[in-house]
Amino acid sequence: MKCLCFQDSARRAHSIAAQGGINAAKNYQNDGDSVYRLFHDTIKGGDFRSREANVYRLAEISNNIIDQCVAQGVPFAREYGGLLANRSFGGAQVSRTFYARGQTGQQLLLGCYQALCRQIAGGTVRMFPQTEMLDLVIVDGQAKGIITRSLCSGKIDRHAADAVVLATGGYGNVFYLSTNARGCNVTATYRAYKRGALFANPAFTQIHPTCIPVSGEHQSKLTLMSESLRNDGRVWVPKRKEDRDKPPGEIPEQERDYYLERKYPSYGNLAPRDISSRAAKEVCDEGRGVGPGGRGVYLDFADAIKRLGEDTIRERYGNLFEVYEKITGENAYKVPMRIYPAVHYTMGGLWVDYDLMSNVPGLFVIGEANFSDHGANRLGASALMQGLADGYFILPNTLPNYLASQMGKRPSPDFPEFENAENEVRARIERLLTVNGTRSLDSFHRELGVLLWDQCGMSRHEKGLRESLQKIPELREQFWHDVRVLGSDEDFNQSLERAGRVADFLEFAELMCMDALERDESAGAHFREEHQTADGEALRDDEHHAAVFAWEFQGNGQPPNLHREPLRFETVHLTQRSYK
Ligand SMILES: Cc1cc2nc3c(=O)[nH]c(=O)nc-3n(C[C@H](O)[C@H](O)[C@H](O)COP(=O)(O)OP(=O)(O)OC[C@H]3O[C@@H](n4cnc5c(N)ncnc54)[C@H](O)[C@@H]3O)c2cc1C
Repeated sequence: MKCLCFQDSARRAHSIAAQGGINAAKNYQNDGDSVYRLFHDTIKGGDFRSREANVYRLAEISNNIIDQCVAQGVPFAREYGGLLANRSFGGAQVSRTFYARGQTGQQLLLGCYQALCRQIAGGTVRMFPQTEMLDLVIVDGQAKGIITRSLCSGKIDRHAADAVVLATGGYGNVFYLSTNARGCNVTATYRAYKRGALFANPAFTQIHPTCIPVSGEHQSKLTLMSESLRNDGRVWVPKRKEDRDKPPGEIPEQERDYYLERKYPSYGNLAPRDISSRAAKEVCDEGRGVGPGGRGVYLDFADAIKRLGEDTIRERYGNLFEVYEKITGENAYKVPMRIYPAVHYTMGGLWVDYDLMSNVPGLFVIGEANFSDHGANRLGASALMQGLADGYFILPNTLPNYLASQMGKRPSPDFPEFENAENEVRARIERLLTVNGTRSLDSFHRELGVLLWDQCGMSRHEKGLRESLQKIPELREQFWHDVRVLGSDEDFNQSLERAGRVADFLEFAELMCMDALERDESAGAHFREEHQTADGEALRDDEHHAAVFAWEFQGNGQPPNLHREPLRFETVHLTQRSYK
């Protein structure tokens, strides 16, 4: 097996950034959790836009994941008596999140990476770090290989295979500013889309409510403050606009608006991400936001420190408080954190069937790269659960089933399909290097990001989406005439690396806006301003839009074809989502 990643080691995949935890329905707390309850929370959390069968399987597998990871040596937090500890995350009223301080992703990834290293040492896996997939090769309608570029030497290679698995993560960086690692991109999945794989629900992007607010134009990255902090932190803003510039300590209790607790009394500060994000935007739009630019709300630990003591809070979240202090210079044990929503996760991705195979036979897609089980909104601590369910438990069953029919059918990399794909990759690289324009890559990417954030971000409306659909092709046109890509193709060249990714974002953004326009309803994180309840919540249109939207590429400059996969609910009743 060949395994590729663009980092210098798979140990540095973006998953390393995951902080808060991973869900499982173990019911260790004896608080009424069950496989059914996790299934139900996930379907409801996704605003009834995911497949029932997939989500039920995910909830069932969740418990095995924890056992598997413990067996790999993942050091989950434990109770005094030795049992694994849990904490709560948004959208659930039970405590089912397993964690390793604020670095759960890192510990899970290390467990996985050790297992990978064992296979590399055993000779069953050949690892290709710093290697980027730039195209998918299809032979006789089946995925049979990829074209790659070495990020160190610039060498282009052909890899023939019996099947291709994409585990290439999410595309949140299309917005330029996001909590994703800087390298996250859409290239692998978008190139597969251009070779015929359907792209599902690209407009479903998640905005996370608790990130450090943007501080200025110089920024290239946003930082998450884990949702786990909402276990103990209380979210508030001043009741009166006039108080927004006062130090928080000078605003008395009766002058504070704990708006999540007020609006959603049963879930309070643990309301799901889409709802909490919109609520933060709403109070800031009213002029009650705090901090520079008025785009922030307080996340306050004073009550928890009074109740539990500073040591307990330090034990639970110490490294997150350190990160916060390093970035803002403020000590969150003494003054409340300031947070604001930011782009965080993408529920959209390549369409897959129940076996996690795309519509292109032999192309499997797992983790954040597929359109996933999260519907229109992912609950906290559920991405790691889904990624590990896909990779540890589902694929090992479904992939061999496909491979059984492929014995002896691996093509030679000399086949014309490989040659054509390689030529296309080379031509595109040459085109990027010969534009020789005046504008930097970042300036194009940032402009695209601002446009998307304004028109296809936390809320969307028809007029704005139509405008974006005009502006994105114009920006793309400018890019291909005026971008400056430095260096050569036969060397380590980060400018070229990024240029290819930004070029793909500039095409993909159009697909996102088309999807957001076509989905003429509000659902989860996809909030169309035209469709809301009297109290400002997302209003679905189940009659017309209870479906997965899967887009098929029809050629450059041609509108893609939309396929709708109807969603049928046999167990869960479709209801207006309520967290009140
Ligand atoms: C700051 C932050 C905190 C989070 N915290 C949590 C949490 O507490 N709990 C939770 O459940 N989820 C959390 N998430 C979400 C979760 O981390 C991600 O959804 C998950 O890690 C994605 O894993 P993945 O394996 O699908 O992709 P990734 O970890 O992004 O891995 C993608 C891999 O594909 C490779 N790759 C990509 N493109 C190419 C290409 N073209 N060629 C070659 N290789 C390529 C990369 O090199 C990388 O190895 C968090 C996300 C963020 C941003």
